[in-house]
Amino acid sequence: MKTQKIAALLRLNAIEMSHNAKAAHLASSLSCIDILTVLYEKILKINPKRPNEQHRDRFILSKGHAATSLYAILAYRGFFKKNYLKTYGKKGSLLEEHPTPKLNGVEAATGSLGHGLSVGCGIALSAKISSKKFKTVVLMGDGECNEGAVWEAALFASSKKLNNLYAIVDFNNWQGIGRTKDILQLHPFKKKWESFGWKVIEINGHDHKKIEKVFKNKKTNKPILIIAKTIKGRGVSFMEDDNNWHYRVPSKSDLIKAKRELGIK
Ligand SMILES: [Mg+2]
Repeated sequence: MKTQKIAALLRLNAIEMSHNAKAAHLASSLSCIDILTVLYEKILKINPKRPNEQHRDRFILSKGHAATSLYAILAYRGFFKKNYLKTYGKKGSLLEEHPTPKLNGVEAATGSLGHGLSVGCGIALSAKISSKKFKTVVLMGDGECNEGAVWEAALFASSKKLNNLYAIVDFNNWQGIGRTKDILQLHPFKKKWESFGWKVIEINGHDHKKIEKVFKNKKTNKPILIIAKTIKGRGVSFMEDDNNWHYRVPSKSDLIKAKRELGIK
């Protein structure tokens, strides 16, 4: 199946989970689903049957509030049964509103923002020390880059020349309560990361070919930062770039409309 079609299915999964559990953060998931689809379909060397295999690539969803995007792709790849998505947000389910490593395929507990990059640095450094070839990929939000710990990890990664570490920023220009630039200005974002010793690449975070290509880039001795320009709520016209959907829960009729727009019968 083409990755665009898979991404549409995953978007529907996320919308259904949010609707069923009456849970927030739907737009944050829709923002990064194209990135996760390409990572899990084209980039990450992983085996759902052996989730703890020591040479696997590692992915950390540092913006843990977008957990439904991760659950949808993990189910699609067979880390657990698709039916299990129906338990999202329910008592006793491992599909909690923020990811837990008790679930196969989840590398770290995230959701308290700003910590994923530090975890990724530790894993990437351990790979270097033990001469393992796997890569580590961390996905953060733009609003998440307000956190001081992100910049401490940025210093650490370049200091240790962690060229096996990729950080992606899902740059949708929003955070929970407003425009990222109004809450804390990140500009000039690219220059900041470059000055911290990272190789920086900017892409359209919904262009599957561009996302794939970025990981096939030439060799560098620096950690790699990918600024993925995205639209929050991407894929559903009445959710796109409307920050109300950070917290709003889709109704039954919203679900039907979204399904029609996504072209899923
Ligand atoms: Mg954001």
